[in-house]
Amino acid sequence: MSTMTAHSVVHASADELPLGAALNAAFEGAYHERRAAGRALWPADGMHRDPAMGLSEAREWTLQRLKTIGAAGFGHSIQPSESSDRDTLIQSLVDFETISYGDLSVAIKSGVQHGLFGGAIAGLGNDSQQQRFLGGALDLSVLGCFAMTERGHGSDVSSLETTISYDHESGDFVVHSPRETSAKTYIGNAAAHGHLAAVFGQLVVDGTQHGVHCILVPIRDEQGAVLPGVTIGDNGHKGGLLGVDNGWISFDSVRVPRDLLLDRFGSVDENGRYRSSIENPNRRFFSMLGALVRGRICIGGGAAVATRRALSIATRYADRRTQFRHPGTDDETPLLDYLAHQHKLLPAIARAYALGFAQNELFDTYARVTSDPSHAPRAQRSLETLAAGLKAFNTEFANASIQVCREACGGAGYMSENRLTQLRADTDVFATFEGDNTVLLQLVAKGVLTNYREVWGGLDRLGMVQASARMVGSSVIERTGAGLLAERLVTTARRKGDAAAFYDRGWHAWMFEERERHSIDSLARRMRAADRDSFDAVNAMQDHVLFVARAHMDRVVLDAFIAGIEACTDPGAKQTLQELCTLFALTSLEADAGWFLAHNRMSDARAKALRKQINQVCHELRPRAIALVEGLGVPQEWLGSAMLEG
Ligand SMILES: Cc1cc2nc3c(=O)[nH]c(=O)nc-3n(C[C@H](O)[C@H](O)[C@H](O)COP(=O)(O)OP(=O)(O)OC[C@H]3O[C@@H](n4cnc5c(N)ncnc54)[C@H](O)[C@@H]3O)c2cc1C
Repeated sequence: MSTMTAHSVVHASADELPLGAALNAAFEGAYHERRAAGRALWPADGMHRDPAMGLSEAREWTLQRLKTIGAAGFGHSIQPSESSDRDTLIQSLVDFETISYGDLSVAIKSGVQHGLFGGAIAGLGNDSQQQRFLGGALDLSVLGCFAMTERGHGSDVSSLETTISYDHESGDFVVHSPRETSAKTYIGNAAAHGHLAAVFGQLVVDGTQHGVHCILVPIRDEQGAVLPGVTIGDNGHKGGLLGVDNGWISFDSVRVPRDLLLDRFGSVDENGRYRSSIENPNRRFFSMLGALVRGRICIGGGAAVATRRALSIATRYADRRTQFRHPGTDDETPLLDYLAHQHKLLPAIARAYALGFAQNELFDTYARVTSDPSHAPRAQRSLETLAAGLKAFNTEFANASIQVCREACGGAGYMSENRLTQLRADTDVFATFEGDNTVLLQLVAKGVLTNYREVWGGLDRLGMVQASARMVGSSVIERTGAGLLAERLVTTARRKGDAAAFYDRGWHAWMFEERERHSIDSLARRMRAADRDSFDAVNAMQDHVLFVARAHMDRVVLDAFIAGIEACTDPGAKQTLQELCTLFALTSLEADAGWFLAHNRMSDARAKALRKQINQVCHELRPRAIALVEGLGVPQEWLGSAMLEG
């Protein structure tokens, strides 16, 4: 009997959906109908830009396309934070996914205009500012910028140099770039189209700094001329996203009326007194950034859609493209019949599914936390940790897998008309903006360790070791809704130990949990022992910190996959999802086989056998490859890839 017997194919009966459609319904989960409705409304004509367009033509095309999708209703679902209902919050995330089926410059320009500029007004502004400015941001009558990054500081936002100083005499703010390094840079909509900028800088009142705040600064007049005191430059040609006009902005003591400070988290009253409901400046800073979490969720979601597009193109091509005669026949062999080709595409498809299920969980968490004004700080931390981790995972996976897809299509993959090169170029920078991935993964580890400290904080080192030995492993791992099923499977798998089958989900979940738990435990111990004021001591742990973040996120993603399979009601789709989940889990375990061996979590024989199991699942999934990419939800007619036509 094959070790994969549990995975043998279940054929659809007449009243069941075709496999691709059933997979798609399961994959999109609770948001399937909403996503399908978005696809039905999407103005698909002219959704892809001619890759041969030059810079200025691409920018104009992108602006016009932004207007077209705006007229079709996309990008309007940003509401003031306090009055956001669950439906609108989710709709704004789904909208961004739908926009990402088309040209990614349009998606990013919408992200800048609606998500970042509109989002800053909605998340950081007061009622009257929202009434005055949000409508224009959403209907595109006021094109705007989100001006946070400076030449000198990108990831380190708390060290921004721009000053927003209150002038008692005039009652205005003065926005100033004190040095060359204080100029805002890489700012979307700055080089050509933006009229108003949400500018982040240090708020100074009576010589006292109150930390980073955001103020609306007019930068161009109605005719498009740059306003006095403002200098704007063009960042010029870049590695992708040619349709977005990125530029730099610097301010020479520009006067701005007091009521343009977006003051939900900190205001200056008519007597020039600073007030904030959050006294601790550090907490205030993180609360402000937390109000902008939506952008991060969207970028991860956009990268995921781009990956699905590339996987759909490469898999469909590999199914029809043949090379070399099949021995003993007159036929040539389809690329996808080669094991090496299956290794390129099928584990990536499995990971795309895994990340999609986790993104659904993130949607749930975002809507639940954001629509509840009285949510606990821990809930906000969980949301931000998940959003940071999935942004990093989705965008790094996009970069890795789109390149693999390009290579999997050989020379045809390199032709612009087949879309992969532009997808690759456009998603590249997703790893950097909305938070650099390495920095975000450190945030993930910080969130995980903060939760850990809440459990273990009171124990000294010896006490911690003793307690650790007494507790069941999962105690340091916070599991909520989606993870509860995985937790039960782990309990059963522990009893079986190494006798668990390779496709035993409990064994996968147990191994993922062990990797996370052990790495957190050991990192927490190292941190306690280290002098946390010493750069060298903390820096020496940075690789460990990143390992913790990845181990945590991999476990969260697997938990979400398990919950997604449980919710699937179609037997054929459920069976296929089980196989995909096995492929995802085994691929992750194989990638870290060295760690599992070094930490005695896996025997040599078991580690060696992983590859054989992976090959077997690939072999079994191959005949369903087209249904697998149909399940990822990208309509075939939207792929726009010349080599798939005819
Ligand atoms: C096309 C494009 C569009 C953009 N649009 C906007 C926009 O509209 N508005 C806006 O405000 N910004 C925008 N940005 C800026 C973007 O958000 C920043 O580039 C990003 O935050 C990274 O900052 P940085 O470029 O200064 O890189 P840095 O912070 O200098 O990072 C450089 C490298 O150093 C590493 N690094 C940094 N800190 C650490 C650390 N503590 N530990 C280990 N490694 C570290 C990073 O991982 C990275 O590899 C855009 C950028 C681009 C390229």
